[in-house]
Amino acid sequence: MNLSDQLSLTAKNNLHKTAYVFNGEETDYQTLEGSVTKFASSLQKLGYKKGDHIALVVGNTPHFIIGMYGAMRLGLTVIPVNPIYTADEIAYIVNNGDVKGVITLDILMEKFEQMVQLIPNVEHYIVGETTPDYDVTQSSLSDKAFSFTKLVYGGSLELNRPTLDDDDTAVILYTSGTTGKPKGAMLTHKNLYSNAKDVAEYLEIDAHDRVIAALPMFHVFCLTVALNAPLVNGSTVLVVPKFSPETVFQMTKDYQATVFAGVPTMYNYLLQYPNEDEKDLSSIRLCISGGASMPVALLEKFEQRFNVRVSEGYGLSEASPVTCFNPLDRPRKAGSIGQNIVNVENKVVDQDGNELPPGEVGELAVRGPNVMKGYYKMPEETEASIKDGWLYTGDMARMDEEGYFYIVDRKKDLVLVGGYNVYPREVEEVLYSHEKISEVAVIGVPDPELGEAVIAFVVSTDDSVTEENLMTLSKEKLAKYKIPKEIRFLEELPKNTTGKILRRSLRDQLASQQ
Ligand code: AMP
Repeated sequence: MNLSDQLSLTAKNNLHKTAYVFNGEETDYQTLEGSVTKFASSLQKLGYKKGDHIALVVGNTPHFIIGMYGAMRLGLTVIPVNPIYTADEIAYIVNNGDVKGVITLDILMEKFEQMVQLIPNVEHYIVGETTPDYDVTQSSLSDKAFSFTKLVYGGSLELNRPTLDDDDTAVILYTSGTTGKPKGAMLTHKNLYSNAKDVAEYLEIDAHDRVIAALPMFHVFCLTVALNAPLVNGSTVLVVPKFSPETVFQMTKDYQATVFAGVPTMYNYLLQYPNEDEKDLSSIRLCISGGASMPVALLEKFEQRFNVRVSEGYGLSEASPVTCFNPLDRPRKAGSIGQNIVNVENKVVDQDGNELPPGEVGELAVRGPNVMKGYYKMPEETEASIKDGWLYTGDMARMDEEGYFYIVDRKKDLVLVGGYNVYPREVEEVLYSHEKISEVAVIGVPDPELGEAVIAFVVSTDDSVTEENLMTLSKEKLAKYKIPKEIRFLEELPKNTTGKILRRSLRDQLASQQ
């Protein structure tokens, strides 16, 4: 099975049910299914065939959904790209990914017009209209550019659908990785389909649900959890073009949303939102957190304020992405990423790949139908990350006696202070427990005596919080070598578009000041 064929089956059983809501407009499954087929048939007419690569450079709009499912229906490999990337970043992915066509939006065309020389092999630009008077024929790329709307409306429902094999690459996701250029994780039809189904089964996402998609769709968390899992199970996807607390509260109220998926910083924004009257999430049965560790204090405050269950899970692009979640029918444990989801195994291993007993910290390795085929055109990197069928995640973790996993930190973020291991997360949790702290990030910096030392960056909602207060708290709760050498106050922490805190840019900031 694959996502595209499953969508057809789901649509058959839910013809008049709303598949997604965008800008107040509801689109039912019958219309979505028709648009997907018609778009695929138009791509076929343009000369696309199974195995071709197409980049999807759009935000959270219906073009993403129709574009991705339409291309998959024809057996193309889809490469979702963050639309706010710079010209160089986009060009790297387009060229490395052997992209034949780009699906984008009118508002992004200027960028492509300016960078056209950087991507000479692109044959077509398929442009989604988001403004009423946009005319693709006026573009300086008009000989290569086509209207998305016309391709959908002018397409045919009689499509000769190719057979999609389980192991064909459905999507390539470029992940930043730890060093060097981004690597393209190749996810097969089986990978994506199994994870969407397994997540839905584990979190009981079904046709009764209305799921808020406020994370960026090009990122695998939104792609599987808030888009594919709901769509192949007949739920309604509530598309949020750009996250803001107001929009989430409004969408929840207007459409009685039942599931919200977000990264911890989003939960923080929702909690801090000042207008208490609008802060109602009572229709939501489940809040899903992932992408970064959820501070325990934030999780508890959020659950209390909104009277809703927050379930933390864990995943990575290379695993399509989900491997663990806190279960619904057993206790959720704050600070834990939960247990193995259906069909997926996790284990903690030492440096030689031997499984460690409960309680011991090692690298998290993952096995299951969700694990990628490999990195595109990078056999050595693939070999280094998948051994004996197990994907080595680069995250340090431990498991308790009941099979719940805890992410200690990323392997590369470990700080070595005078030979002792300090995991930034442990220090962050302590600082975060201070009532008036809204964000924290801890990094290691070179230290002439100890090799490395810990520095904390905090965002506070109150001017009365001082470095001294936080030092006192740290001294109470942390062993001496873990206490930050310095605590700096910032207005805001640097984050990527998914909302993950960028420790790397904090390191760069510090280095440039020295
Ligand atoms: P990406 O491939 O962009 O989805 O990033 C995957 C990485 O995000 C993982 O390797 C982890 O380092 C991090 N991550 C995802 N979920 C969690 C979580 N619940 N707790 C801690 N880190 C997480």
